[in-house]
Amino acid sequence: MNLYVHVPFCRAKCTYCALHSRGGSAAADRAAYVARLVAALPAVRRQSHDAPLTTVYFGGGSPALCDLQPLLDALRPHLAPDVEFTVELHPLDVTRETLQTLKDGGVNRISMGVQSLDDDSLTHMARGYSFSDAERAFHLVKDFFDNAGIDLIVGYPGETAALLPRHARLAKWGLTHCSVYSLILEEKSRLGKMVQHNLTLAQTIPSDEEVLNRLSVVAHFLNDLGLQRYEISSYARPGFACRHNLATWRGEDYLGLGEGAHGRIGRFRTQNWMGEDLSAFEQVSEEADRKERLLFRLRTRDGLDSSLLSGDGQAVLEQNLKAGLLTRDGAVYRLTERGTEVCDAILAELV
Ligand code: SF4
Repeated sequence: MNLYVHVPFCRAKCTYCALHSRGGSAAADRAAYVARLVAALPAVRRQSHDAPLTTVYFGGGSPALCDLQPLLDALRPHLAPDVEFTVELHPLDVTRETLQTLKDGGVNRISMGVQSLDDDSLTHMARGYSFSDAERAFHLVKDFFDNAGIDLIVGYPGETAALLPRHARLAKWGLTHCSVYSLILEEKSRLGKMVQHNLTLAQTIPSDEEVLNRLSVVAHFLNDLGLQRYEISSYARPGFACRHNLATWRGEDYLGLGEGAHGRIGRFRTQNWMGEDLSAFEQVSEEADRKERLLFRLRTRDGLDSSLLSGDGQAVLEQNLKAGLLTRDGAVYRLTERGTEVCDAILAELV
């Protein structure tokens, strides 16, 4: 069984972010939140009849802003022997003490949100660190964890190149994984509002074509480092693909714990699960359940087996095949390079 735990606290709100997160929290609030997670855990585990956890993912937010020890202790008896246990880290949360606590608690994979290699962009994003700070933090992470990767955003306003002039240094980090996202300018984010009121800033947003070119530069850079794309935004060395994310894209069940966390158990969908504070609980139809589990395979290198589709799904796939957005190998359709750029639109047609 897979478990996602959401920890919504952040040091400050990043300009581009519209996720569920809270900046400027008090230590007591964070401790109380962790206590609520621990209290809710048994009820969440019962949803899956206490099946051992094969993947655990702490996302946020910045989970390590909290003292995670009580939650790590509570989770330990539930971990499968070969669990993949990931924690997202903000570079400023990386200390020897934190890394040791995580390692002792069973964590074996780190995902660090670096976001940009450009100091001006990092400042504008309000991330609070420089490229060199992130580099020092990542080297420290690697002292404790072999399996460590980063997230990058491409296409931030004012960005002039996705990697240069830092790529030579990044090549020495020993990345096992990299997630690369193109910036989505969310209207509700601070950046979205800034752009609406600042023409000069708006004019520095790279065009779609520039962003695609930069994504391609990053993809080639990562390929040269031995990281292969296995999902639209995800690259990994062989054997280091994120098992938690793959499980969700392949249609497996997963538990969600915490504010903003979603879960999928059979045909049930949970949201914001905090034990007694369940705010949404929905049972979807068999057809909707089947489609949801199937379609996300298109995001991955596995591809989508069309023999499992019913209705006009096959016709939609054929249209996209003719348009050069998909390839076909027997009954399995996979995205082409161009198809990855419009995957969400293809999924929307299929749904
Ligand atoms: S990007 Fe991450 S760290 Fe920044 S505000 Fe959003 S959730 Fe918090």
